[in-house]
Amino acid sequence: MKKRILLSPPNMAGTEINYIKEAFETNWIAPVGPHINAFEEEFSSYLKIQDTAMTNSGTAAIHLALQLLNIQEGDIVLCQSFTFVATVNPVLYQKATPVFIDSEEDTWNMSPLALEDALVELKKQNKLPKAIIVVHLYGQSAKMDEIMKLANDYNIPVIEDAAEALGSEYKGRKLGTIGQYGIFSFNGNKIITTSGGGALVSNDSESIKKARYLGSQAKMPKPYYYHKDIGYNYQISNLLAGVGRGQLKVLEKRVLEKQSIYHKYEKHLDNHPDVTLMPEFAETKSNRWLTTLLVEGVEPLSIVKKLEESNIEARLLWKPLHTQPLFKNAPFYKHRLTNDNSVAEMLFNKGLCLPSGTDMSDEEMEYVVKKLIHALG
Ligand SMILES: *Cc1c(COP(=O)(O)O)cnc(C)c1O
Repeated sequence: MKKRILLSPPNMAGTEINYIKEAFETNWIAPVGPHINAFEEEFSSYLKIQDTAMTNSGTAAIHLALQLLNIQEGDIVLCQSFTFVATVNPVLYQKATPVFIDSEEDTWNMSPLALEDALVELKKQNKLPKAIIVVHLYGQSAKMDEIMKLANDYNIPVIEDAAEALGSEYKGRKLGTIGQYGIFSFNGNKIITTSGGGALVSNDSESIKKARYLGSQAKMPKPYYYHKDIGYNYQISNLLAGVGRGQLKVLEKRVLEKQSIYHKYEKHLDNHPDVTLMPEFAETKSNRWLTTLLVEGVEPLSIVKKLEESNIEARLLWKPLHTQPLFKNAPFYKHRLTNDNSVAEMLFNKGLCLPSGTDMSDEEMEYVVKKLIHALG
C-alpha cells in the first residue's frame, strides 16, 4: 500500500465549502457571525438540548464548564483516569485537585463502584468533590444511570466529556445531554471536524449564555470596555462554524460508516483466540469512533510498530492519567473487582486502536486485517 492508512482522517462532505464561500461573500471572517448562531441552533436541535455555546476547542468547553461550576483552587474534581489529558488539564488551569477514578471492564469508562468508594471515603474526610467528569471513550457510553444516581445522592454536578462520542446514545438519549454539562470536540480526527473547535451544551440556557460571555473576554454590556470577571478568548470562527454546519449534515451517515467499519473488523477477527473487541454495553449505541481491541500474549506496542512498517497508523489506548508524571501525587480509586493493578492499566497494557477512517476502502480494511493477524503471530 503506497497510501498511508490513517487512524481517523477528516472526511469532508463537500458542502462545507459553500458555507465558507458564503462567509467570504458576506465578509463574516470573525469569531462572530451567522454560521456560529446557526451551528449552535442546529447542534442543539440534533442533540435535543436547550442550548449550545460553540468554542474553539473541546478543552476550552471543559474549562468553561468548570468556570460555570465555580471550581476554584483546592476544590476536588473526580475524573476518569483512563482518558486523554485534555479532559483534566482544565482542572489544573483552575488550580483545583484532580482525584482519579478507575474504569470497569464492561464499558472501559468510569467504574460506578470505584466512584462510590471515592465518594464514601472523601465524605468521611469532609472533602466532597465539586464536580465529576465522566468520559465516553471511543464512542462508548459510561453507565450513566449508576453514575447520575451517585452524583444526585451526593448532590455533585456531572460534566460529560463526549468529545469522542458525538452521535452515541444511552437508553435513547444522546451522550453529552445527561449530565449538567456536556462537551464535544471537532478536532481534526473526531467523527466530524472543523479542523479545530468544540461545543458546550446544557439544558440550562442561562449558564450557556454565561459561557458565551466568559468565552468572549467577559465584556460587560456597557458603552465602553468594562470588566469584572476573568474572560477567555474561546470563540469559534464563523468560517469554521460553516465547516461544522456542513459536517453536521453527514454526522448520522458517518456514525453508520464507523459502525460498519467496526462490524467488518469484528467479522474478520471473530474467531481469533487472542483478540477481544471493545464491548458495547446493553441499551447503548456507540458511534464506534475508533475500533479498539485487547490482545493476549502480544505486546500491543509491537503490533503498532509492525503495522507502521506497512504504513498503517494504529495507536495504543490512552495511558491512564494517574500513571503520568504530571499527576504523580494525585489520589486514585481502583475498581474493587479487579485482580490487576487497575482496570485502566490493564486496558492500556493490552489494548490498541485500529484505523477507522470513514473513507477507508474494503481493500484497505482487508490489508490492515492481514497485517494485524500477521503481527499477532
Ligand atoms: C479530543 C478530546 C478532547 C479535547 O478536545 P480538543 O478539541 O482537542 O480540545 C477532550 N477529551 C477527549 C476524551 C478527547 O478525545
